[in-house]
Amino acid sequence: MTEEAVVRQVRYVGPEVFELTLERPAWLRFVPGDCLALFAENGRVSRPYSIASGAHEGEVRFLVRCLPGGEVSPYLASRTPGDRVAVSPPFGWFRPGEHRDKRPFVFVATGTGMAPFFSFLRTEPESRPLACYYGVRMAHDLVDPEWLQQRCPISIAVSREAAPGYHHGRVTALLTQAPPAPGVDYYLCGLDAMIDEVTDWLQAGGVPIQHIHRECFFNASPIDEGLTRP
Ligand SMILES: Cc1cc2nc3c(=O)[nH]c(=O)nc-3n(C[C@H](O)[C@H](O)[C@H](O)COP(=O)(O)OP(=O)(O)OC[C@H]3O[C@@H](n4cnc5c(N)ncnc54)[C@H](O)[C@@H]3O)c2cc1C
Repeated sequence: MTEEAVVRQVRYVGPEVFELTLERPAWLRFVPGDCLALFAENGRVSRPYSIASGAHEGEVRFLVRCLPGGEVSPYLASRTPGDRVAVSPPFGWFRPGEHRDKRPFVFVATGTGMAPFFSFLRTEPESRPLACYYGVRMAHDLVDPEWLQQRCPISIAVSREAAPGYHHGRVTALLTQAPPAPGVDYYLCGLDAMIDEVTDWLQAGGVPIQHIHRECFFNASPIDEGLTRP
């Protein structure tokens, strides 16, 4: 089943990352971590995108990296207010902070992998992660760093340039400065290489795999969202 949603805005955060805002369809109910499949013009090709807005907001927003030559992301980037985009019902299995009543939790994201964590932070104003690690390639890829700094203990890594106030290097290097905590839930989202590396490090440090929650957006070969060395 597909429905349509009306575009409110495409706002470029940096040269490659944009925020897509849709009017919230009346039928849409979701929890942080849910995705919608957004369709290209032909109505046949779709890609999943994680919702970045809060579950109680009147609009639905996504953080998208525009991949030149891609079938869906450039199409979304070229939308203008009033256009319609075909969307699927929400789906997902990645649930940031789902065990917050039992265990503290940590978020780790590369690039647009912050989207489900934004949704959580906007939906659950009383809940704070123990720490949030956010890696990007360039400082202009950062989405709302000032808001994040107010909202939770955030550590930001910029891999490909030295940017004032941020760690210069990989988000994994920042994370591994402290030992893993076996009693903590870790939520990892973004690039597969980051997810694999952090998973190995956590498991070696005694964190059981059931406390390591993962959502992969991109494979490392076409894109690097703040993981590789500058
Ligand atoms: C569960 C899930 C949630 C996701 N959520 C998000 C999200 O919130 N935000 C988001 O941005 N993405 C998200 N993604 C990724 C998204 O679904 C698409 O894969 C992505 O937008 C690319 O789709 P596309 O149709 O534009 O590109 P495709 O048509 O799939 O083309 C990608 C291909 O183009 C080539 N290519 C494209 N760009 C480059 C480049 N820069 N360098 C080198 N080669 C390139 C590569 O061969 C690559 O395989 C998510 C993925 C999953 C699985």
